[in-house]
Amino acid sequence: MHEWAIAEAVIKEVENLIHKNMRLKRIRILAGELQNLDENILKQYMDMMIKEVAPGLKYSIEREEAVFKCNVCSHIWHLRDVKLSEDEREAVHFVPEAIHAYVSCPKCGSRDFTVVRGRGVRLVYEVEEE
Ligand SMILES: [Zn+2]
Repeated sequence: MHEWAIAEAVIKEVENLIHKNMRLKRIRILAGELQNLDENILKQYMDMMIKEVAPGLKYSIEREEAVFKCNVCSHIWHLRDVKLSEDEREAVHFVPEAIHAYVSCPKCGSRDFTVVRGRGVRLVYEVEEE
């Protein structure tokens, strides 16, 4: 159901772009590392929906690395910089907010940080050259 909602949101955005006379060449669906997502299921939904609104439009589903920024010392780090157990990793995938319980700034130890990237899904697109 989750993947369905994501595919719907992506398709809605594609529709908007087409509506603005954007000549889309390719879209990239960037799924955050913290996002629990079944890429195969998303692909199935995308294949189903995309031919309705933009037949032939190429797309790819990619994973986007999570980026964190400390609100205290401004240090920036990645998920690979922190040690998480398998269970913690799992928990974070189901509830991205849980990241605050398991991760703290590697530099100053603060748990007051922002998830700059790696949550949710972003759409990046390329347009046809004139
Ligand atoms: Zn810090």
